[in-house]
Amino acid sequence: MEKTIEQINQEALNELETASDMESIRALSVRYLGRKGIITRFLRNISKLPPEERPIAGKKANETKKTLDKIFKDALDRLETATADATDRIDVSLPGRMVLAGSLHPITQINRLICDIFTNLGFDIVEGPEVETDYYNFEALNIPKNHPARDMQDTFYISDNIVLRTHTSPVQIRTMEKQTPPVRIIAPGKVYRCDSDLTHTPMFHQVEGLLVDENVSFGDLKGILTTFVHRMFDEQISLRFRPSFFPFTEPSAEVDILCVICRGKGCRVCSQTGWLEVLGAGMVHPALFENIGYDTARYTGFAFGMGVERIAMLKYGIDDIRKYFDNDLRFLRQF
Ligand SMILES: [Zn+2]
Repeated sequence: MEKTIEQINQEALNELETASDMESIRALSVRYLGRKGIITRFLRNISKLPPEERPIAGKKANETKKTLDKIFKDALDRLETATADATDRIDVSLPGRMVLAGSLHPITQINRLICDIFTNLGFDIVEGPEVETDYYNFEALNIPKNHPARDMQDTFYISDNIVLRTHTSPVQIRTMEKQTPPVRIIAPGKVYRCDSDLTHTPMFHQVEGLLVDENVSFGDLKGILTTFVHRMFDEQISLRFRPSFFPFTEPSAEVDILCVICRGKGCRVCSQTGWLEVLGAGMVHPALFENIGYDTARYTGFAFGMGVERIAMLKYGIDDIRKYFDNDLRFLRQF
């Protein structure tokens, strides 16, 4: 027996309920309302009915066709709107939001690199106080009161006898007081001087080095510093030792390296000389050993000191030291 138009309508609605995407709703529409669809076929077959039934059956079938068509279209519209909404909320083609990760400050990075190079050479790392007594900062380093060398550094005095250390050299004395040779240390840390311009800040970082043992010569000092410069910059950077004066070393030298920017040709950074001053160094003055109680006939040693900011400026080609302390993320993110 042929299905009635009501049955066909009900089946169509049941199938629509299980159709979950636009593709299957469109297929459903074709299956029922298309040119060869179920309802279209039903309409064609009306001519086979008894003449008196034809008008009512035709009317019902046409109404069903119209209603179903509208129901299918509405269902498609609803799905389309829902999809559009979802697309508005999440655009999967947009690039993801960047998660910002912190990183080490360039001064910390260079400080660690210096420490790594020297610990690989057998040096221990030692630290000392930043608030220091006049004795450790000056007197024990062969800089008595009223010594002209005190004018070399603009000191922050907390009281007559207490200063913010102007160099990391007091750590040499503190270490030697506690330890008999061999001594092989570096002392990284903050130091303070009342000074501020393109190449000076009131606080900066130094690394001090000290090696005391039997038969230590100036040649050992040159060897250690050459190895350091080659590892910090590169093997092609040569060193130059210029005679100088420090109260706590004798003989003393200032150490220049071949300009890492122009490689000796002359540029603004090296003031056209082709050389850059990076270190102070020398053989430990016997007066220091006498103060500590080391046997000056038996032991010799060398000491050196460098500014970490200075090394970092040369390593990264930065010409204003204050950039390291401005906390400008655009600057810091480059490292
Ligand atoms: Zn240069």
